[in-house]
Amino acid sequence: MARIINILPESLVNKIAAGEVVQRPASVIKELLENSLDAGATALTVVIKEGGKTFMQVADDGGGMSDEDAVLAFDRHATSKITTYEDLENIRTLGFRGEALASIAAVSHVELHTRKRDEGLGFRVRIEGGEIRNKGQDSHQPGTSVTVKNLFYNTPGRRNFLKTNNTEFKHVFDVVLRAAISHPDRKITFVSDDETVLDLHPTTRDNRIRDVFGDRQTEGLVAIGDSNEHMSIVGYASKPNYSRRTRVEQYLFLNGRYIVNRSLNHAVFQAYEHLLEKGSFPFFVILLTIDPHRVDVNVHPSKMEVKFDDEGSVYRFVVNAVRKSLLAQDLAPFVEERMTSSGPRGGEGGWNAGNSWERLLRPGQSVDTETGEIGIARPMGHPGGSTSAFSSLPFGNVWQIHNKYIVTPTTEGLMVVDQHVAHERVLYERIVDRLAGRVPPGQQLLFSHTIGLTPGDAALVAQLHPDLTAMGFELKFFGRTTVALDAVPQDVKPGEETTILQQLIDLYKENEHTVSLEPRENLAKSFSCRAAVKAGDPLNADEMRSLLEQLFATKNPFVCPHGRPVIVKLTLAELDKRFGRPA
Ligand code: ADP
Ligand code: MG
Repeated sequence: MARIINILPESLVNKIAAGEVVQRPASVIKELLENSLDAGATALTVVIKEGGKTFMQVADDGGGMSDEDAVLAFDRHATSKITTYEDLENIRTLGFRGEALASIAAVSHVELHTRKRDEGLGFRVRIEGGEIRNKGQDSHQPGTSVTVKNLFYNTPGRRNFLKTNNTEFKHVFDVVLRAAISHPDRKITFVSDDETVLDLHPTTRDNRIRDVFGDRQTEGLVAIGDSNEHMSIVGYASKPNYSRRTRVEQYLFLNGRYIVNRSLNHAVFQAYEHLLEKGSFPFFVILLTIDPHRVDVNVHPSKMEVKFDDEGSVYRFVVNAVRKSLLAQDLAPFVEERMTSSGPRGGEGGWNAGNSWERLLRPGQSVDTETGEIGIARPMGHPGGSTSAFSSLPFGNVWQIHNKYIVTPTTEGLMVVDQHVAHERVLYERIVDRLAGRVPPGQQLLFSHTIGLTPGDAALVAQLHPDLTAMGFELKFFGRTTVALDAVPQDVKPGEETTILQQLIDLYKENEHTVSLEPRENLAKSFSCRAAVKAGDPLNADEMRSLLEQLFATKNPFVCPHGRPVIVKLTLAELDKRFGRPA
């Protein structure tokens, strides 16, 4: 019998490999940039034409190659970066698979020029579809430049998959951007169709971030920094009210390499706890450094996927680091910030109609001052405050506005608190504590209440029974759909004992449909929303003070569990500006 198995020729093997490594112009630029960075380049120039389809070039001032290596580099599995299996477990370079140049050359026209710093002359190699056409000595400045023309000229299937020049440009741009973010100490220039798109000079990480994202984008970023014996993290994340509508602007790097990792993206998201509104995502740039022995980057030829030895500990490390940075922030939006983003300012209209300060301070109420200036807080001391910015807050004077907002002077001016969301935050944290078993539950009812449920609700209550009990509900089933309620959580308002369970269940179901929450999370949110004072509930001064005190004893007084702001501040400086009073 004749044999039917062939060993594929090298050129075909390379084309097959190219399928995984080279998907589009951006993948070529990515590989070439990685090689330049690995070669220790301090200046990198990327030039493309027509989104990279017809022309791409990456030039560097790195170590360069010898004549022999310049030819060898195009062989498959040719690499200077690893030699043994031990090396593979300890990858400190961006490349290591030795297949990028071979793959690129298999599907395009490539010209490489290179010169080692200590060599007088350089070397040139020209390759088409993996075949060397020309090579020889050449003059070249120290470093390497690789030019790639006519990508996929010999693989029409691939070529047809390419998108518009614009789209391909955008992908290349992203690749250059990522290299710029992870290597702020390098000079990076990017030219597309003869236009200089990026011209970045070596600088600090902070400045590089500002250089690539601009002032507007970087406004509202919080710096992140933390480390333990195994890993370290640096980076930036947006304050909640600067979040985005999409996940696109999330940049994650591991050991200088841009990676894609859903779990770690989720860790960052998780760090915001409930600071983010539904459907909004943080903008972040996070750079992790982890001992290479503890990570595996050899998961996919594109090297963008990684596996961690202990993913759980990396996840927790990221959550904690980001959370710490966020909580260190005073997250209350200033009136000023709000105004720039949402409407007119100054002169006539000022704030929102209906909220004008005139109205806020009537009737017969004026902020009590000795100096005649608004909002100078009297030093009454406030023992309950846990947040540094508010530690000396005097909750002496409080006013309720339209049975909805609480206004009180602060050392910096004034703050307005939304009573419902403030109470929601207080209750939410209490319930979360209770669910974690930290607070004694329940207030006993004088008479047990019997509640009839629909079969669906009854099943849900049965399912949530343990958590409801932890929250402070004490209930027993009589038959399948009737429960007797003997105790409710302490925060339930008198008179609502019988309705709170049904309200809670209704909101729980609603949340199940619209947002995906853990059951306990959903319970806590639903309960705090339903049990909290509402807009429209009149509060007396003591109730307001007590609410403010409890609010400032929470972990995050500034944002409600759904991500809405709890506090809006108006500073004296802002008031002075509005009244045209020189500062
Ligand atoms: P890898 O980067 O995985 O080693 P490549 O195919 O990308 O594989 O490159 C093969 C080899 O060519 C590299 O290991 C390196 O020695 C050399 N090389 C490629 N690009 C450059 C460059 N810009 N400067 C110096 N050496 C380079
Ligand atoms: Mg490489």
